[in-house]
Amino acid sequence: MELNQLTIHELQEKIKNGAVSAGQITESVFQRIDKVEKRVHSYIRLLKDEALAAAEKADNDIKKGNIKPLTGIPVALKDIVCTKGITTTCGSHILHNFVPPYNATVVERLSDAGAVFVGKANMDEFAMGSSTETSYFGPTYNPWDLTRIPGGSSGGSATAVAADECIASIGSDTGGSIRQPAALCGVVGMKPTYGRVSRFGLIAFASSLDQIGPFTKDVEDCAIMMNVLAGYDPRESTSVQAAVPDYRQFAGRDIKGWKIGIPREYFIEGINPEVEAAVKKAIALLEKQGAECINISLPHTEYCLAVYYIIAPAEASSNLARFDGVKYGLRAAAARDLLDMYKKTRTQGFGNEVKRRIMIGTYALSAGYYDAYYKKASQVRALIKRDFDEALKKCDVILTPTTPTPAFKIGEKTDNPLQMYLSDLFTISTNLAGIPGISVPCGFTAGGLPIGMQFLAGHFAEDKLIQIASAYERTAGMEKRRPQL
Ligand code: GLN
Repeated sequence: MELNQLTIHELQEKIKNGAVSAGQITESVFQRIDKVEKRVHSYIRLLKDEALAAAEKADNDIKKGNIKPLTGIPVALKDIVCTKGITTTCGSHILHNFVPPYNATVVERLSDAGAVFVGKANMDEFAMGSSTETSYFGPTYNPWDLTRIPGGSSGGSATAVAADECIASIGSDTGGSIRQPAALCGVVGMKPTYGRVSRFGLIAFASSLDQIGPFTKDVEDCAIMMNVLAGYDPRESTSVQAAVPDYRQFAGRDIKGWKIGIPREYFIEGINPEVEAAVKKAIALLEKQGAECINISLPHTEYCLAVYYIIAPAEASSNLARFDGVKYGLRAAAARDLLDMYKKTRTQGFGNEVKRRIMIGTYALSAGYYDAYYKKASQVRALIKRDFDEALKKCDVILTPTTPTPAFKIGEKTDNPLQMYLSDLFTISTNLAGIPGISVPCGFTAGGLPIGMQFLAGHFAEDKLIQIASAYERTAGMEKRRPQL
């Protein structure tokens, strides 16, 4: 195995006993990038010089015995988190030249923990999409089949981990953008509880739904990343002051006597039969480990998509009002006056999907329609959240497929936004309820595409997600298949 293929915990062992240096690990990651990046396109920007300098610093720390949780570990950042002095585009033309004057809190936390930043990962423009095809910088390709999409919007972060172009990465999840690409690329992805990880320095899409979380090669690594990312931040008003357990402790514990809720609304007609079969096989395996699976119902599931596609665009239309050519990024040339400058900048700077969301959102919030759309959607959202509260009284965790289908073909859904929106059918409810979720690989299709399933738990119960996902992973015996690139 090459160094770039190893997990955080495997590399930590090697660093601790002096078998490898941070420099060697970083070199091995960039060698891999040289080999495959042209075909996969995980990154908008690579940070090779910065990474080599950070690795050198890590090696000095190691020599002094100062080893932190991520010392010398190459990590990719979705290009939606602000990096001081480093262009942060959000996948958009309008921010193609935006250089933030400060770091996002997660960037500071990772850096304080010793991480080495490899690059800024590709994404759907402003995180709006499920395929990474709306990026101004061109699509990312699924490493398991380069004619297919990697999922989105954090497609670059998912492929960078799956193709071993980094060891772990950061994404953001507003309606599934971590879990869906994790499932389609065969890696682990967690969306933490709303309030668990600071969003200070995250370019906002839909503020009542956005969360930052990790992509990793296994569940133990997810726990290691969560130990670094989670915690209160006085600079972020929705950040919660709740104790952060050592998540790593929960990896490897058994799940005897656990109750797993299987919601009937998630095993619907139209779900791909290979996805359904893989998840059912996983259910049987969990039962063998002493868990009991019970049928539950989340009766308002059918409204999730409609509610999300009112609330998310409404909040986006308001958040994106700040991009007008005055303060950030692109400014259109040859404007007649201020209004013309706004119009030209936004016309040139935003892509079609972003414009569609701004128009839907502005309409939903406009005078006379607010009650009928945004307010109504918020009321139904409360019912969706209550479904989860009720269900989680009867079980420890909920298990569902992460996506209705495996990765689809590039271009297959670009002309049909509704079809595209349906790929988030199973992930959106989690964000509406504010609860945490994790997607873990649970098999492959006959054609060799990864399949993922997700566990959901109550607010701040990420520890339970780590425990059950790792219990599954350890006995699933899923061979460590790797994409052939
Ligand atoms: N695919 C969903 C959307 O386009 C979710 C995106 C996300 O989670 N950022 O809104």
